[in-house]
Amino acid sequence: VRRLFRGLSRIALALAVLSAASVAAQDYPVEVPGRVPDAGPAAPEGIALPELPPPPELVTPLSILGRLVVPGTREQLEWRPRGGISSAEMASPVIVTRGALPGPVLCLTAGIHGDEINGVEIVRRLSHSVDPARLSGTLIGVPIVNVFGYTRGSRYLPDRRDLNRFFPGSRSGSIASRLAHAFFEDIVRHCDAIVDFHTGSFDRSNMPQVRADLTNPDVLEFTRGFGATVVLHSPGSRGMLRVAATAVGIPAVTFEAGAPARLETAEIAEAVAAIERLMHKQAMLEVPAEPDALSQGVLLVGAQAAAEPAPIFLDSRWVRANSGGLLISEVALGERVAAGQRLGRVIDPVSNVERFILAPVPGRVIGMAENQAVLPGYAAFHLGTETSEQQAVREAALPHAAEPVVEDPAYRRETTDAVLGEDFE
Ligand SMILES: [Zn+2]
Repeated sequence: VRRLFRGLSRIALALAVLSAASVAAQDYPVEVPGRVPDAGPAAPEGIALPELPPPPELVTPLSILGRLVVPGTREQLEWRPRGGISSAEMASPVIVTRGALPGPVLCLTAGIHGDEINGVEIVRRLSHSVDPARLSGTLIGVPIVNVFGYTRGSRYLPDRRDLNRFFPGSRSGSIASRLAHAFFEDIVRHCDAIVDFHTGSFDRSNMPQVRADLTNPDVLEFTRGFGATVVLHSPGSRGMLRVAATAVGIPAVTFEAGAPARLETAEIAEAVAAIERLMHKQAMLEVPAEPDALSQGVLLVGAQAAAEPAPIFLDSRWVRANSGGLLISEVALGERVAAGQRLGRVIDPVSNVERFILAPVPGRVIGMAENQAVLPGYAAFHLGTETSEQQAVREAALPHAAEPVVEDPAYRRETTDAVLGEDFE
């Protein structure tokens, strides 16, 4: 009986502890409804306390490439990848503008393909023009990622590899893979978002346009900031900087502008304006960078910024030459065309036969080849048809054939073309 009594009293004790615990838990709820934490003592009746602004968020110096960049300053640093191509190689400039006010880290990269120099000038211009005292957040500009290609006017690395197929890279891989790895670790991991600048390639030119994986909600939201800029859905290829960055949670897009191996002032200006709109949208800049824009009434703050035109989402397709010969265009980049309209002709200089290339659908010429000698099947015109954001996102989500990994786009298989066309970023 005594043992039974002891057993019962243990159970009773356990129950008492349990119920005390639950009472205790009720005594200290995690969230007290209606109570503002740290609100301080209430004001005595009849006396209004002054409304104080919240304490400013502290901006700390940015530690990057072995240096500290303090808030409100701009520093030009050098990136020299460990185990780089050659010690004689020029360093890649990295312009870091650490804003005086808190905000995101936006990275602008260009020259991953060394011959695509429009982007070099776009990033250089933006990186040196933003006022650190008025910047909320940080702008990191890397105008020439592939210094080797840039100094030789080449798209490629010395081993003919395409750097934009090797991100995020590896420490022990090929030279392309090591460079990609060093850039990813030294720069990319500091970024909250990335815009990577490119141009058309292989004698083609692109109207300024954003290419983005619209199936990723963070990337989609990021594209909304570019204002009235053309946006194309493109999942991208494995190894592209934007694909690798997005995979680790850093929304990234490609910005295409113009043709390789030349400087095109109109395309450069359009891209610079698009990035300034993006920085307003991200609340990094409150007024346009040009001081005289204020006097012209171009103040992009508050309601006006919200009323900026939305991006233009496009579906696109490539129109190919069906015969070989000399391609001569009859349209200009950016032109709107009707279905059946002549885009250009291919002249066979041997048989003296001319064949016309017609637009299969109405649309806008968002990319096109330079006049040149072409083979049958050459992708000559990139036509975009306006669609809604919703429709673009719906189509982006449709299943596509798996993308083969290609190192050199020049050897891309026909099956890849069906998915990506000729969008060599
Ligand atoms: Zn490129």
